[in-house]
Amino acid sequence: MNVETTKLPLWKAGLLHLYYHGSWPIRWSQNWLRSTRGRAPIMVLFYHRIAPVADDPWTCSNKVFVRQIRWLRAHFDLVSLTEAQQRIRRGENDRPCVSITFDDGYADNCREALPLLIREQVPCTYFVTVRNVFEGEPFPHDVARGKPLQPNSIEELKSLAASGIEIGAHTRTHADLGRVADPQRLYDEIVVAGEDLQQALDTPIRYFAFPYGHPNNMSAMACRIAHDAGYEGICSAYGGFNFPGDDAFHLQRIPVDNDLIRLKNWTTVDPRKERTPRFKYQCRPHALGPCGVYTP
Ligand SMILES: [Zn+2]
Repeated sequence: MNVETTKLPLWKAGLLHLYYHGSWPIRWSQNWLRSTRGRAPIMVLFYHRIAPVADDPWTCSNKVFVRQIRWLRAHFDLVSLTEAQQRIRRGENDRPCVSITFDDGYADNCREALPLLIREQVPCTYFVTVRNVFEGEPFPHDVARGKPLQPNSIEELKSLAASGIEIGAHTRTHADLGRVADPQRLYDEIVVAGEDLQQALDTPIRYFAFPYGHPNNMSAMACRIAHDAGYEGICSAYGGFNFPGDDAFHLQRIPVDNDLIRLKNWTTVDPRKERTPRFKYQCRPHALGPCGVYTP
C-alpha cells in the first residue's frame, strides 16, 4: 500500500506552490543578503514517525522522507545540535544549516529512516519519552485514537547511539510541562528521567525536548531546571528560526510533515514566519545573563 493520507489537499498544495514560487525572488535576495552578512539561519527540524504509510498527521512516509533528505542535503549544511549551537554562539553564520531531530521514539523509525541517516552520515538527535521506551508502552496520544504503535526498545536505542545518533530526553511520561507547577514533578520529568535514560543506555543525554513544545507547554521553571541540571540545550516545537547571536540554549524547531513543499517553504525562510516570537524565560542573572540569553 502506498497511500499518503496526510498530504496537503490539492487546492492547499496548489496555493502553497503559488506562494512559494511567487515569493521566490524576495526569498532568494533575502537569503543571499543574510548569508553575505553572516546572518544565515540555523534551522532545527523535528519529525515524529517515518513509516511505509503516512496515516496520521505526525507520520511521514518513507518515500517522502527520502525526498526530503535528498533535497535538504542538496541545499543546506546538515549539522548536529552541537554544531548548530556553535554557529548561533559564534554570532556569525554564512551558510544556512539544518539539524534533524525526532520526538517520542517510534519503533518504525528504525526500519528505514534512521538507517538512511546513519548510512549517509546525516547528524540526528533522537528524543525519547522514557517510560514508553522502558516499558514498551504505546504513547497516550496513540492509545486515545485506538492505534497503539510500538515505541523503540532500549536495545534499539543502544544500537542507534552506537551508530552515532544522539539520544535526548523527552520527559518521563510525555507530560505537558506547561501544566506542571510542582517543582519535584518537573525535576523528575526533566532531570531524573534523563539520568535514568543515560544509565540505561550508558551514553550521555545532553539535550531535552519539551513535549508539544508550544509556549504554553513550557515554563520558566522547567527551562531553569533543565539548565541547572547541566543539559546543553532545550528544544521547543512551535515553529521558529534560530539566527546567529540568538539564545543558543533554547533551540526553536520547525515541524516537518508528509510534504516536501511545506518543508521547502519553511527552510527557505517563509517571510511570514521569519519573526516568530521567541519563548522568553526568566533566568537567574548570574547563571544566564540577560533574560533568556545563555552565555557559556
Ligand atoms: Zn512528543
